[in-house]
Order: sequence, then C-alpha cells, then structure tokens
Amino acid sequence: MENSALEKIHCLIIGSGPAGYTAAIYASRAGLNPVLYQGIQPGGQLTITTEVENYPGYPDGIQGPEMMVNFENQAKRMGTDVRYGLATKVDFSSHPYKVQIDEEKWIEANAVIISTGASAKWLGLESEQRLNGYGVSACAVCDGFFFKGREVAIIGAGDTAAEEALYLSKICSKIHMIVRKGEMRASKVMQDRVLNTPNIKVYWHNVTDEILGSTKVEGVRIKNTQTGEKQEIPVSAFFVAIGHHPNSDIFKGWLDMDEAGYLVTTPGTSKTNVEGVFASGDVQDKIYRQAVTAAGSGCIAALDAERWLSEKGLH
Ligand SMILES: Cc1cc2nc3c(=O)[nH]c(=O)nc-3n(C[C@H](O)[C@H](O)[C@H](O)COP(=O)(O)OP(=O)(O)OC[C@H]3O[C@@H](n4cnc5c(N)ncnc54)[C@H](O)[C@@H]3O)c2cc1C
Repeated sequence: MENSALEKIHCLIIGSGPAGYTAAIYASRAGLNPVLYQGIQPGGQLTITTEVENYPGYPDGIQGPEMMVNFENQAKRMGTDVRYGLATKVDFSSHPYKVQIDEEKWIEANAVIISTGASAKWLGLESEQRLNGYGVSACAVCDGFFFKGREVAIIGAGDTAAEEALYLSKICSKIHMIVRKGEMRASKVMQDRVLNTPNIKVYWHNVTDEILGSTKVEGVRIKNTQTGEKQEIPVSAFFVAIGHHPNSDIFKGWLDMDEAGYLVTTPGTSKTNVEGVFASGDVQDKIYRQAVTAAGSGCIAALDAERWLSEKGLH
C-alpha cells in the first residue's frame, strides 16, 4: 500500500441505506466528521420500491427513492462527506483500520460503521423484474397491506416464507403458497401453523413458470415438477420469500458472522468482535429487516462509535 494513496479520517460509514444515513446524521452531529461511501446502490434497497407507508413521519406515505434523497440531504446538511465508491477490501489487523475503496484508494479510520445491508434473492424471471414494485415484492411486512382483502401468491419454503405467509393470511383473503418440494424447509412448528391456516393453500412440487400481467401483477402460472402440468392462479401480488444475502463478503475472515453471512453484534449494541468496528441495519439483522429498524440501529452504531472513541481518548 502506497502512503500517497492513504487518506486518514476519523469515522468511516460504509453504505447509504437508512442505517448508513442515520449513523451519518448522528455521527456528524457528534462531531465525528464522518465520511460515507454509498456503494453501488446509493440510497439502498428502498430505491427499488415504490410507496413506503410504514415509516413514521410520513402520514401520506412517500416513494422509496424520494425518502432516501431526504435521508441523504439530511446527512449532508449535518456535515457528512457523502461519496460515491465501493469498499472493496478491509484490513482490521491493526488500529486505525484500513478500508480500500474501488480497489485503489485506502482510507484509514479510527472508527468504522458497517451498514452494507442485504439483498433479497430473486427467481430471475423477466416478469419478476418488470413487475417489481407493481405487485412483485420481496417483503410481505412492507407491502402486504397494499393487497388487503385480495388473493396473493408467495414462493418459498423456509421459516421466513412460512412467517410471511402467516403474516399475509391475516391481511389477505387467500394465500397461494408455492413450494418446490413435497415438504418445507421451515421448522415443523412453522410448517404446522401454515398447514393449519385455512386461507393458505400450499402447492407442493410446484415452481413459478411466469408472473402474469403487463403493468401490474394479475396472476401467476405455476408448473408441477412431477407432472409438468401448468396452471394459472389469479392473484394481485407475488411475494418472493426465498432468502436474503447479507452484503458482508469483504468482512469474511475479519468479523464474526453466522452461517448465512449476517454480521454478529453483541446483543443490544452495534459492537462487532473487532473493537471500534460497528455494524448496523440489515447486514446484522435477519429478523426484522425494516427501514425503521435499520435507521434505529444506525443511530445505535453512531452512539457506540462516539462513546468508544471518547473512551479511547480519540474524541
Ligand atoms: C422491494 C423492497 C421494498 C421494501 N419496502 C419497505 C417498506 O415499505 N418499509 C420498510 O420499512 N422497509 C422496506 N423494505 C426493507 C428496507 O428497504 C430495508 O430493511 C432497509 O433498506 C435496510 O437498510 P440498510 O441501511 O440496512 O441497508 P440497505 O438499504 O440494503 O442499503 C445498503 C447500502 O450499502 C451499500 N453497500 C453495500 N455494499 C457496500 C460496499 N462494499 N461498499 C459501500 N457501500 C456498500 C449499498 O450501496 C446500499 O447503499 C423493502 C425492501 C425491499 C427490497
């Protein structure tokens, strides 16, 4: 590493979703002079959705991309140095910590806040991409309410899919659950709850052939993997619940993570196993995955960073 390519800063925030920007607002106001790198998705996951109705403070709802511009402007107004760029490598072997940006420049920071989020896994169908935000969703808690009293489909067979199907069953009239195999990966108890819910119908041994509709979801065509038989089910929404991928690859070998790659933090804090490195938002939360919980944990990370820097006499 050449010294000429090394920039020394106080607090580095990686990621520009609700967690990163909230950490930035708090860190700026605490005088930590944060530098925030946005990554390849400035604004994070909410930039690929339409209406957000469950974030407090917006009584009439708001479009996801517009909300994230508000977050960014607020962070900038507080003094955050918001930059384009992707963290490509880290070196947490000694303090101050080093983070490489765009495979060239190195940043040296006293405290690092990781808010790199998670990405929903998708099936990869053209119709799924085209109708994303128009009835196709990867978040039942976020979007189920828009389809109150209507019939919807959900694909997935794990605990999250079972939980989301149960959540939807209390809002929607009927849930068509598409399961590839003859059983679910979900725990027995969750599976039993799904099977005992009268308005959930499970289609075993079925895959999604196509999501139907030109400008919004109007149905789904499924295919039985044993018989090859296809059938169309009229639905207003299609929920994809096949898992998430936390954006934590560059931290492998440095930070503790669970088997799925979610960063492990000390309960009730944002502290990782490396002191001075904090994690917030979906990259460390496989349960709640909401903008408001991500923002809340971004606040916690900034406060933890500020206290840690003070304790070390660095702030
Ligand atoms: C379609 C959809 C609709 C949703 N609707 C709602 C809703 O209505 N209400 C709600 O509360 N929640 C909703 N959610 C969930 C919500 O978007 C997430 O819980 C929230 O965005 C998580 O925030 P985050 O800051 O942890 O991460 P993210 O929003 O995932 O942002 C991660 C950020 O990290 C950056 N990044 C990643 N890797 C790097 C790297 N190596 N270097 C630099 N930057 C990096 C990315 O560019 C991105 O800016 C929805 C999610 C989806 C997918």
